[in-house]
Amino acid sequence: MTRGRIFNLQRFSTQDGPGIRTTVFFKGCPLACRWCHNPEGMRSAPELLTHPARCIGCGACVAVCPRGAAFPAGDGRGLAPGVKECEACGACIEACPTGAREIAGREMGVPELIEAVSRDRVFYEESGGGVTFSGGEPLQQAAFALAGLAACRDEGLHTAIDTCGRVDPGVLEAAADLTDLFLFDLKCVDSDRHLEATGSRSEPILDNLLRLARGRVPIWLRVPLVPGFNDDSAELERMAEFASRLPAVERVQVLPYHRLGRDRRERFGLPLLDADPDPPGLETVEAAKASFERAGLQTRIGG
Ligand code: SF4
Ligand code: SF4
Repeated sequence: MTRGRIFNLQRFSTQDGPGIRTTVFFKGCPLACRWCHNPEGMRSAPELLTHPARCIGCGACVAVCPRGAAFPAGDGRGLAPGVKECEACGACIEACPTGAREIAGREMGVPELIEAVSRDRVFYEESGGGVTFSGGEPLQQAAFALAGLAACRDEGLHTAIDTCGRVDPGVLEAAADLTDLFLFDLKCVDSDRHLEATGSRSEPILDNLLRLARGRVPIWLRVPLVPGFNDDSAELERMAEFASRLPAVERVQVLPYHRLGRDRRERFGLPLLDADPDPPGLETVEAAKASFERAGLQTRIGG
């Protein structure tokens, strides 16, 4: 049976496509964006998360860890010192009396997925919503994602794929046959910049986007607006010009950078933006929106 690994299943989501939705967060991503606010989605393997505010410093986790990798969640060290040694065995989670520790990444099969996302069917029907596969990168777990899309279609559920675009072109094509909407990230056209900030050149992503945009499935482009990365007028014009050549794009969503993910990235020992920028000001956000509108694209701020 096809199984996949997810790290969250968020009900009543209103930011990931039309209507009220359930967003399924797949674990593992081919990119390493330095502003990522979902760091538990970056690695494919299950991993330990800690909640420092819940820790009472009892030391039960330290006592049971077979790898010497556990530290009290509240002692300020987080996971960083032990992250390489931790095997996500779960022993410290069992021992922790306050729920200060959890594993991100659990396996599920397609029937379990369908059972979970079907709970809110009535809300989908009333709001024009459905199910969104996000992550991480959902299409990195291709077999599970495609089987999940097919099962949703059999159930009459509207689906959206939230993709970073750095995926196998054949998988993307197969997904296009099974989904109703793509939420496709457009981060930056300049390939050197893209490589420096995400770990991948932009060309494979832009090629996938061009190909996908010739098809029948509508695309909502998602543009994370990150100060110092893609908020200058030259890059905004490049992105707008590129987006204007994509027939299937229905709308652009400008998503201003926020700092909510930084603490979590630090706790995971993941790379950060060199200088943590302030969120873009209203003027910058409006300028970005205007760039896409000048290119003839329906554009909104936010998801
Ligand atoms: S999950 Fe297992 S290996 Fe990791 S810190 Fe807890 S007890 Fe140690
Ligand atoms: S077992 Fe839980 S509450 Fe106790 S020190 Fe470890 S993380 Fe903190």
